Amino acid sequence: MNRLNIVNDLPDAFLDISYRDIKKVFDRPTLVHLEGHKGPALFISIMLHGNEYSGLLIMQEILKKYKNARGYALPRSIWLFVGNVEAASQGLRRLDNELDFNRAWPGTTQPNAPTVKLIAQVMQKITEDELFAAIDLHNNTGKNPPYGCISVVNEKNKYLSSFFHHLAMVFHTPKGVSTMAFDEICPAITLECSTPGNPLGIEKAVALIDDLMHMDHFPDKPLPSHDLQLVQNSAVLKIAQGVNFGFEDEEEHFDLTLVANFDRHNFTQLKVSEVFAHTTLARPLIVTAEDGRDLTDELISNKNGAISLKKPLMPAMITLDKKIIMQDCLCYLLEEYEY
Ligand SMILES: [Zn+2]
Repeated sequence: MNRLNIVNDLPDAFLDISYRDIKKVFDRPTLVHLEGHKGPALFISIMLHGNEYSGLLIMQEILKKYKNARGYALPRSIWLFVGNVEAASQGLRRLDNELDFNRAWPGTTQPNAPTVKLIAQVMQKITEDELFAAIDLHNNTGKNPPYGCISVVNEKNKYLSSFFHHLAMVFHTPKGVSTMAFDEICPAITLECSTPGNPLGIEKAVALIDDLMHMDHFPDKPLPSHDLQLVQNSAVLKIAQGVNFGFEDEEEHFDLTLVANFDRHNFTQLKVSEVFAHTTLARPLIVTAEDGRDLTDELISNKNGAISLKKPLMPAMITLDKKIIMQDCLCYLLEEYEY
């Protein structure tokens, strides 16, 4: 099932298909090579998470632009990896019994998983020749602006980031993420294109990919620092187990009540002493550093039930979906990355 399909052309049906029907075009994960006027090729991966379908819409738009009677007149060659088609057809991020397609790249903590063998075939094929850049297209839940994620801070990656949006995140975990696999190979970025189908995310990604198709080389001049704000993950904010929680605009009473529209704080600095929740408990929130250290007492202030931060941090990837909050987290807390 996880054997890679490699093709040198693209059925016309791909250009209009919905992600839920993607298996009518590719019934298994597929690597498409399309020859363009120049090299090295640009590598683009879509739907490593099956229900994050903006990548499909973005590539449909790019490919339609360059389609002619004889095929595609692309300015630059591309490799397009259409990832988890099975999960996409079911409207899921991934299937329950498999390793996440974006935790299976070189550096993964689960080297024996079948998904890892599939991804290894992709890496082997696309690195036979030089690559211009690697772009991985994703969406997230909640009201996030589009932003890039890079694992190495260098001029080319900063350029990729700034061209997408003025804000990008530097990350080093989790392991096995696609973008990290290209650290030593070519410039690489994960594009978080806001929620699936979000027009701004699509527009910005199309513009970046189109630019990369045309440019001969990355700019030589260093990027002015005010063109890009780099942030990094400082901690993850979770609701303590068993805490009955909700939002201000709900009728019920909760042990922990978060302000209504908490997601408006996404990617904006939360000031010290700005109250974002009320509680009847002593310690309803848990803050954990990337290395697992408990930072709750260091970062969370609880003054007679009014909750605020002890240090200015930027909440990001906030979700208001209670199920996701319980399974995953309420948000991440970011801090400025000094460079
Ligand atoms: Zn994703």
